[in-house]
Amino acid sequence: MSDSAVRPLRVAIIGAGPAGVYAADILTKAEREFEVSIDLLDAYPAPYGLIRYGVAPDHPRIKGIVNALHKVLDRGDIRFLGNVTYGRDLKLSDIREMYDAVIFATGAIKDARMEIPGIELEGSFGAADFVSWYDGQPDVPRTWPLQAKEIAVLGNGNVALDVARVLSKHAEDLLVTEIPDNVFEGLKDSPVTDVHIFGRRGPAQVKFTPLELRELSQCRDVDIVLYPEDFEFDEASDALIKSNNQVKTMVNTLTNWIVEEQDTGASRRLHLHFLHNPVEISGEDGKVSGIKFERQELDGTGNVKGTGEFIDYPVQAVYRAIGYLGSELAEVEYDAQRGVIPNEGGRVLDADGSHVAGVYATGWIKRGPVGLIGHTKGDALETIGNLLEDRLSLPMASNPSEDAIIELLEARGVEYTTWDGWKKLDAHEISLGEGASPAQTTNGPVDRARVKVVEREEMVRISRG
Ligand code: NAP
Repeated sequence: MSDSAVRPLRVAIIGAGPAGVYAADILTKAEREFEVSIDLLDAYPAPYGLIRYGVAPDHPRIKGIVNALHKVLDRGDIRFLGNVTYGRDLKLSDIREMYDAVIFATGAIKDARMEIPGIELEGSFGAADFVSWYDGQPDVPRTWPLQAKEIAVLGNGNVALDVARVLSKHAEDLLVTEIPDNVFEGLKDSPVTDVHIFGRRGPAQVKFTPLELRELSQCRDVDIVLYPEDFEFDEASDALIKSNNQVKTMVNTLTNWIVEEQDTGASRRLHLHFLHNPVEISGEDGKVSGIKFERQELDGTGNVKGTGEFIDYPVQAVYRAIGYLGSELAEVEYDAQRGVIPNEGGRVLDADGSHVAGVYATGWIKRGPVGLIGHTKGDALETIGNLLEDRLSLPMASNPSEDAIIELLEARGVEYTTWDGWKKLDAHEISLGEGASPAQTTNGPVDRARVKVVEREEMVRISRG
């Protein structure tokens, strides 16, 4: 590690979502006696990962985290290189030649598996795919089948709320957001009348957060429907409600919704069911026609057991929002069960459980898809702390020049994008929003925040000028 005294430590971070940007920022600011030079690479032509392609368009407060990430990347001490796919455009051996360390921050964008009969039927969807569609992710089809009048959303987490909200809102109420045109056109013609959210445990066991739950009642022309028989609380639930303010707030919100009259005669309804464990999706002509649940009861510990009573609901679409899964990455160990890269404190492990020198992970690909965006900072702190601790044993890159990656990408014909390119695309999307507004809705004209460019080629063309 002798030449490190005379050159900066070269670090590649794969993934420019919040996890990658926080890691880059923390490494840049860390107390150290040597220079660092960081490249932040992403498979998408634009930065911000989950914020751009995972947060619902009608969540401007969370989308606002982009402003903080923008400030970090705009300082100029972290280089963004987009439209570069690890495993295809760049192999681990390439990275090892050019960087002393690599940090994987690729997140989790696939749906967790659910194995019940009928899951393969037409009209059975993963929430992650739907989120990718409504957030204009470049690699998914531009149209989404929205023919169902009655829809089941499985899961009691915030993703289930996002999906149910977007499905039940009137499309024109999403026009103020950065919703892409193809998404507005798709949602506009949806015939949906009833969206049912099903949780397998009780109201005290939901994984929602209070703000996101309360937001449901603010959807125009959508009534919330609850079922008093689902409000069961065991000893563990009572203890949780007493000890956890967040749970208490949510249970209060839900019980108030039962007490208050929620039936306003709206044209759409959002039903919240608890203690329903999905057992089978039924179909006709290969398409979803219903879903069967076994009714559950709490077992005293906050967990549930089946009652032997089965209930069928007629639905024409099922969305499973039961958690995300990180994707496998080339030349790195993968825990298929948890959807993470096996690691200890962010130090990536090989099949024998030994640390692969110079290879790290942070964010959801490190610890699984739980927690809010801010929690990723703690991950980054731990991973960067360990990387800095390992500094003297890092394998040294043989070609650490900052030009090496650019030369390699150009030689391979990779149309990479840059931070300046993102600023062009950003300005372009905002100007499309200004040009498109005011959109005419039944509430009067609305200004559109921006209109997202969805096609990868178009994103690259605009970014590269
Ligand atoms: P999550 O919070 O882990 O919720 C998953 C839900 O799926 C749980 O209710 C779980 O029930 C249920 N589930 C799991 N397996 C199931 C099965 N086989 N059958 C029926 N239900 C099943 O996951 P998420 O909703 O994907 O969210 C991931 C993270 O992103 C969370 O930390 C979330 O807060 C965050 N997020 C935040 C926002 C926001 O607006 N703030 C938006 C989206 C996501 P059990 O509890 O019984 O396991």
